[in-house]
Amino acid sequence: MKAPHPDKLPLTTSLHWFRNDLRAADNEGLTNACKADRVMAVYCFDPRFWEVGDYGFPRMGPFRSRFLWQTVAALREELHALHIPLFVVYGHPEEVLPSLVVRYHVTTIHTQREWTRDECIVRDAVAQALPPEVTLNEYYDQFLFHPDEVPYGDFGRIPEIFTDFRKRLEARALVRLPLPTPLPRQAVPGDLEIPPMPGLAELGIPAGDADPRSAFPFGGGSREGWQRLQDYFWEDRRLSDYKKTRNGLVGTEYSSKFSPWLANGALSARQIHAEVKRYEREVIANRDTYWLVFELIWRDYFKYVSLKHGNRIFALSGIRGRRLNWRNQAEALQAWTEGHTGNDFVDANMRELAATGWMSNRGRQNVASFWAKELRQDWRLGAAWFEYLLLDYDVHSNWGNWMYNSGVGNDRRDRKFNPNLQAERYDPSGTFRRMWLQPTLFESAPAL
Ligand code: FAD
Repeated sequence: MKAPHPDKLPLTTSLHWFRNDLRAADNEGLTNACKADRVMAVYCFDPRFWEVGDYGFPRMGPFRSRFLWQTVAALREELHALHIPLFVVYGHPEEVLPSLVVRYHVTTIHTQREWTRDECIVRDAVAQALPPEVTLNEYYDQFLFHPDEVPYGDFGRIPEIFTDFRKRLEARALVRLPLPTPLPRQAVPGDLEIPPMPGLAELGIPAGDADPRSAFPFGGGSREGWQRLQDYFWEDRRLSDYKKTRNGLVGTEYSSKFSPWLANGALSARQIHAEVKRYEREVIANRDTYWLVFELIWRDYFKYVSLKHGNRIFALSGIRGRRLNWRNQAEALQAWTEGHTGNDFVDANMRELAATGWMSNRGRQNVASFWAKELRQDWRLGAAWFEYLLLDYDVHSNWGNWMYNSGVGNDRRDRKFNPNLQAERYDPSGTFRRMWLQPTLFESAPAL
């Protein structure tokens, strides 16, 4: 049979379904979508984001909602400049995607692969609702070390201990170079009717001003993330002493603050890694520059832990299957969430979280240990409170770190933090505690 003339071949149309990969550069799914004749993209503000979860709190609170909205708005602009239309819709993906597919004759959908419970419920519902001829391609686009590069065969062989995991990766795996931003298309397809993006008020997200004490006063979106990287690495050269300063508690400069952009994908771990390597070539390579990569490997580790153990990361007995006696006391929960436990270091950190959506790593370890190991309260309530409030909530890092700090995860040493000693060590002058426990003092004393 004679092959049809290229002009007579049917047009292929791809749809990139954005999830937690909200960037144009270093996005394998989007790069592949751009190989089609026509490409469009969609992001759904899924009403389930704001539903009350298993432990009585909405799954996403005001800080992350606002940051997410800013991120999507910035992505829409960025894609617009590439002539890739981004449909931003308030609705269930399993209803939105099939209607776009039918309307615009989409042949292939590309998206980031997710594997945790709630994300799979949505993916499966979408897959079921699609016409059978449409292909759904999924990509692991959230890792530093891509699963195809790690030396563990199947996920069942992933080491339980972080040091084993890290050492084998460092010896035997390579981090892929980030992919470039796709080239601009010739024009947006003419037949598309792109609705305006829903505003904050339409989505019920409060506008709100940032608390002036916040350690994270930044906005959402790739450009903001890159600006932060530019300032932290290149302008202020903070990377050169990152390890020495990362346990700080006050201000923007004690750690990179990359996590909120990493969590929704506005920055990728590979992009940050490439900048660290450039810094090491052009400025200095030392223990501090290495340590940022070391922390990014922790991030990967919790993703691999959840790939290996699946939804056991949400179980009370955790991935170790440890049956401990947990309490579930409403008064304890109220005191802890409001920052009225009586321990001033714990309380200052909890008030910071409630007022800003941010808490330092040092703070998180202490308040989690206090909740789960001192008060012996169901650790999952603590994790759900963090899920609700954290700007940088990431399912793997949050539930993985919570298990780790609660004695049901990968920490065999089962350490418990003493918040009084920790306060003496990390807040010796009391600046951090005064800032959150006596805010009026802070307002009248800008020297803090
Ligand atoms: P930096 O010190 O500058 O580190 C650079 C990056 O390395 C971070 O952005 C982050 O991506 C990664 N990283 C650093 N520490 C860890 C760690 N312990 N685990 C995994 N990745 C790490 N991080 C989240 O991104 N989302 C969460 O939901 C989350 N929940 C947590 C809950 C608890 C109980 C604890 C103890 C830690 C949690 N973390 C979480 C990890 C860590 O506290 C934050 O990643 C870190 O404080 C973010 O600040 P930064 O970007 O300035 O970190």
